[in-house]
Amino acid sequence: MPPLLDEKLIAPTIDDLIAIINTNYKNPDIDLVRRAYDCATKAHGDTKRSSGHPFITHPVAVACILARMGLGMHVLAGALMHDVIEDTSVTHADLKHQFGPDIANLVASVTKLQQAHYRGAERYLENLRKMFLAMADDVRAILIKFADRLHNLQTLGALSREEQKRIAREALEIHVPIAGRMGMGEMKGELEDTAFRFDDPDAFAMVERLVTEKVAEKDAYVQQVIGTVTELLTTEQLHPQGIHGRVKRLYSLYRKLQKYENDVTRIHDVIAIRIIVSGGIEQCYATLGILHQRYKPLPGRIKDYIAQPKPNGYQSLHTTVFCEGGDIVEFQIRTAEMNEHAEYGIAAHWRYKETGSKATDDMRWMEELNRIRRELSDKQDFLERLEEWKLDLFRDRIFVFTPKGDVIDLPEGATPIDFAYAIHTDLGNSCIAVRVNGLSARLDTALKSGDICTIVVNKNRKAPSIDWMKFAKTRHAREKIREHAKRLLPTWLQAVLPKRKRKKMR
Ligand code: MN
Repeated sequence: MPPLLDEKLIAPTIDDLIAIINTNYKNPDIDLVRRAYDCATKAHGDTKRSSGHPFITHPVAVACILARMGLGMHVLAGALMHDVIEDTSVTHADLKHQFGPDIANLVASVTKLQQAHYRGAERYLENLRKMFLAMADDVRAILIKFADRLHNLQTLGALSREEQKRIAREALEIHVPIAGRMGMGEMKGELEDTAFRFDDPDAFAMVERLVTEKVAEKDAYVQQVIGTVTELLTTEQLHPQGIHGRVKRLYSLYRKLQKYENDVTRIHDVIAIRIIVSGGIEQCYATLGILHQRYKPLPGRIKDYIAQPKPNGYQSLHTTVFCEGGDIVEFQIRTAEMNEHAEYGIAAHWRYKETGSKATDDMRWMEELNRIRRELSDKQDFLERLEEWKLDLFRDRIFVFTPKGDVIDLPEGATPIDFAYAIHTDLGNSCIAVRVNGLSARLDTALKSGDICTIVVNKNRKAPSIDWMKFAKTRHAREKIREHAKRLLPTWLQAVLPKRKRKKMR
């Protein structure tokens, strides 16, 4: 876990960013990074964050996180400018003019995602998650959003306790499960542990203490086992690319502790030893075999996630064995490729490859995203009701924001009337006008994903207009309008209508 009080993490400078890029990339486009930085610096001016740091340190920190992940130059440029459309006078057109359509569109996509706020209301939780996936026409925007969220969590200290809790919950409810499903193990773990610290400070401190004690107690022993195993594998002509001790993430340990009645002695992977083989799958199994010759495996604890990958694509062999002196140690064995996938998941497709300036082909990640969506729709544990809105629903849904940032999920072609009724019947009934993205609009306007819709009401108005039936799209809105329209008819007509109906039926 990175130390949260490290100034270089909280408020890095452009030089810190360039230093990371220079160690991580071959032939990086530093000029682009500087231009994006200059644009953002000028745009944000001398705005300050609540921590007191200049605002520009925030986008720089976000870019640093993504540069550590080795993501492409356009992602870094987008990260540096991710708040300019939202917070400054710089427009999408300005960015397009200066940086071209790809970077401009990327920033616009992040801006859309920014508008979703979780306010502790369970009601819209599912819509928020749905929206995240549906807006993944550019997954890079989600990567920027995750990094943005991570830095915001790292700097929560300056906010009120209430805000801390809200933002931490939002990360745990929305961002963490999605990062997990996208196979981004590192990002998920960082988000989770940083949010955990603010969501439940007492539990966090308890688990942190536990891990510190365990590491102090076991570190020398683990190093010794690593030495023995390295020797063993070398004699067998297997030369692993890496063997290292891996301390379990705090939040995941916390969850496991809850399952085991807080009995840490029953948890054997607080520190695990990870072996990255230098070859392919066959070396993973060979390594497992050699370990089992030397150390007796605990029955029922061998997990073959290579033959049967986890739903998010995670692959590895896990085994728990009795080491020297009867100590129990978990080993995780995987190829370098599996390791890259476990850490970066879908983001692996945008990692800056030595061969070219552009990230890998678009098709593979599209396939992968579709696979994730498909799998999501089968999994009960992630989004409880996801099976109701299977894959094809994504295409036909739009996500419209309230002025407070709540997300309303509507079918394509829905109008402000549908939006109003989706929130509350009274809002629909008393609606007299609407503003879309701040501008007056007609009530029959077809809304688009990402629109911010403000319903103007007249408290005296209690009933909808029957004309709305001409353009209301959702069954819910149409039912409400029809219901009211019937009530508005003169009593004599109301009395007549059912009779006529009966007559017809005969
Ligand atoms: Mn931001």
